[in-house]
Amino acid sequence: MQLKMALAGNPNAGKTTLFNRLTGARQHVGNYPGITVDHKEGCLIHENYKITITDLPGTYSMTAYSAEELVARDHLVNERPDVVINIVDASNIERNLYLTCQLLELGVPVLIALNMMDVAKARGMEVKAKLLEELLMVPVVPIVARSGSGMEELLKGCIRVATTDARWEPRIISYGDDLDNAISSLVAIIEDNDFLSDIYPSRYTAIKYLENDDQLLAKGQTENKEIGSRLENFVTEVADHSKRTLDVYPEAIIADHRYGFIKSILRQGVVTHKFDTERLY
Ligand code: GDP
Ligand code: MG
Repeated sequence: MQLKMALAGNPNAGKTTLFNRLTGARQHVGNYPGITVDHKEGCLIHENYKITITDLPGTYSMTAYSAEELVARDHLVNERPDVVINIVDASNIERNLYLTCQLLELGVPVLIALNMMDVAKARGMEVKAKLLEELLMVPVVPIVARSGSGMEELLKGCIRVATTDARWEPRIISYGDDLDNAISSLVAIIEDNDFLSDIYPSRYTAIKYLENDDQLLAKGQTENKEIGSRLENFVTEVADHSKRTLDVYPEAIIADHRYGFIKSILRQGVVTHKFDTERLY
């Protein structure tokens, strides 16, 4: 059986190290047409599965701010990999989970490879993979890509995600009462009109409109000019109101709430610092 996987993560999270470990010499590097971003693909055989893996460009986010981000997002929505391995640097977990939030909202099947567990440990951090998995409602496998520790469990987890029909409902991130209401209104218009529905989940489209995502807005205009414009006008009103009353644009509120969501998860004991505890007692 054939499976498609993609590796997504922040720069320096260990994507290439993991990619090399999984695919060995079975790699092919090219360019995406028209831009200088690498397209790296490799394959491996595991049990009865022939797996192709794409090493996506490293990004901190999944918006339309750079060629790398666009390539990564387009790959995910166009190629529809069976599993997206989101490689997260355990020693830098808070920042890394920002991308994770966006992958979850994109509605792709995510498995978190919690990498650099050795680095975290050397710094006196204990990162609880199981607890993170429960809180985020997404499978999490601890690994050390450099030494190869955790590879069996990782592949097992990937195959489970790829072959399970039951989609888990990823946790929904709240953006505060005002924006949540705006999102509901946008979602209603999006769903009533089947707008971009074969590409993005409706909530994702709504959030991206609020974030003023150029690429998505352009896609919307192509798909249905009338609905696209209606959504844009609605969002302009929300943005004006937000700017007038709170002196911020929705994009900033959204980013703040993503960080707040991550903090609220981490605060529940996902990371403990050994040295701190020792100092306390
Ligand atoms: P990428 O930018 O995501 O492709 O990251 P790389 O694979 O290039 O890794 C960045 C650096 O982290 C390299 O020096 C790797 O050798 C190192 N690295 C990757 N994974 C691990 C790991 O699990 N433990 C440790 N200690 N170093 C790692
Ligand atoms: Mg790399």
